[in-house]
Amino acid sequence: MNYQSIIQHLQSCGYSVSAAELLTLDTIEVDVTIGGYNVELIHIKVKELTSMPAFYLKDPQQFPKLAHTLPFNDYNLASICVNVTDSVSVNYEVPTLAFEDSLKKHIELLTKCLTDPVENKKELLREFLASWYSLNNTKFNDVLCLVDSPEFCKLKVYATEGKYGLKSSVLVHPENYDLATKEPFFKIQVAQRKKSPDLGCILPLPDLSSIPWNVSDLPVWFLEHIELLDSDTKHHFLTTFAQIRKNIFWIIFNIDTPSGKSWFGLKFQHKKNKVNKTLPLRLESFAEWNIEACSIKLFDKSSLIPRGGAFTDLQKKKVLLVGCGSVGGYIADQLASCGLGGLTLVDSDTISIENTYRHYLSIDYLNWEKTTGLQVKIATKYPWINIKPVKGCLLNLREVSILNSFDLVIIAIGSPTKERIFHDYCIKNNVETAVINAWTEGYGVGGHVALDIPEQKGCLRCAYVDNKNLCRGLVSNLNFLKPNQDLTKNLSGCGNAFLPYSNLSAIQTASIATDLALKFLKGKVKDSSKVSWKGSDQDALNENLELTDRYYAFSKSLLITPLLNPECDICNE
Ligand SMILES: [Zn+2]
Repeated sequence: MNYQSIIQHLQSCGYSVSAAELLTLDTIEVDVTIGGYNVELIHIKVKELTSMPAFYLKDPQQFPKLAHTLPFNDYNLASICVNVTDSVSVNYEVPTLAFEDSLKKHIELLTKCLTDPVENKKELLREFLASWYSLNNTKFNDVLCLVDSPEFCKLKVYATEGKYGLKSSVLVHPENYDLATKEPFFKIQVAQRKKSPDLGCILPLPDLSSIPWNVSDLPVWFLEHIELLDSDTKHHFLTTFAQIRKNIFWIIFNIDTPSGKSWFGLKFQHKKNKVNKTLPLRLESFAEWNIEACSIKLFDKSSLIPRGGAFTDLQKKKVLLVGCGSVGGYIADQLASCGLGGLTLVDSDTISIENTYRHYLSIDYLNWEKTTGLQVKIATKYPWINIKPVKGCLLNLREVSILNSFDLVIIAIGSPTKERIFHDYCIKNNVETAVINAWTEGYGVGGHVALDIPEQKGCLRCAYVDNKNLCRGLVSNLNFLKPNQDLTKNLSGCGNAFLPYSNLSAIQTASIATDLALKFLKGKVKDSSKVSWKGSDQDALNENLELTDRYYAFSKSLLITPLLNPECDICNE
């Protein structure tokens, strides 16, 4: 990096810039006047420009606490958060311009914070959590908080157990947490904690009167904010919590900020092991205690589900998934990842060695029912889903009352005969629940899903109209491989034939099925519809297999199109 030319360029832009040193670091220093303050900005020299050149604020304590700055105490500097670091594309080929641009942005930001105290306070509150976390120099383990309400209550706080996984976080739940009403995920988490819990409580703060700069500011900050509590909370806190003698206390605060409710915490630990005292409520008593600021992550579905791009409104939906093979297994996982609340899995098969490379479940689940294996795996992965495994098959499900209790039925069994028999039953008995049939073809040529919504034109039989004679056909007209060819492979004699397709094909088919299911459940698809994905014909041609006209004409992979076939006898009744 040619800092000589950068300094010259910035000088030519009118800045007062010079090369300088800070402790052992080479820097450049910019002096500017902002809102009546003399501000020194420090850039620590770098060898290569891989992100926007950073400028630090020197002597930050001489200013009021500024939004978007974080103290960097060892150097008496504060970092200035101009952008999310990696979101800006930097002109590293012309460093002079990158520095000019960056310096301008830093000065603009500081100008806003120094000249508009109202906006500065609002921003400080909005980013309060970041400054709270910066109070600890060491990385503090997350505190996972299973609470439903921000109001005062006593808490059980379980220490970390181990370095990895959820056990490496502190776990918190209300003293009267009713595990019986919780999803399996939470029962597992709480059951895993072996050590006896510490005591904590929740304190909702009506306001923030100050923001601590350093850990040493925490005692004053704490006492100040106890005074701010509303009278009910303060009364409960003082009479039911502050009287108790313990070696460790956890206080978990929450406050409304412009970007939602913020949660953060303090851990009080008496300096002497095994000495139990009441929580320090006078400044003199703090000498006996170590205090740590900690980050609180609320384990809360209303924030975690949308944060992962899933949908809280699917929590109320119930899906019946029939077939837990390669396609069905992925559909189950994908539906759960979308935020689905209720999933019933039906299959009669167990995991076998042959499933090793083509199933969502690993071979650890050998001999497990596919349904229970999926239940266990998915319930430990997605916290807010209830999965019910049922040993059975599609044709046993011909019960109107059962079918009508679901929002959607998805069939992934790859059996055109059973699927048509089941469809006949639904038509004759006026089943009200929509059905998706999903199947994959061999040799990577593609996969298909058909969504049949009762009372809407378009049904499974539309996908079975024989294109030649326009009568009911035995194979789907959506297929890409011509019928009456031997499509299965057989490595070890009768009873072991299988349709050759890869795990990737199964995932593709599951993805179009889940996507259509999701859009239907969210009310975005209101008509009976179909979707196909089309892959390469190379492997099929190598096996001397023939492909259909639809394959060659098809250009609508992944797109949702109407299922209705005008020649369908059912839809034309
Ligand atoms: Zn039809």
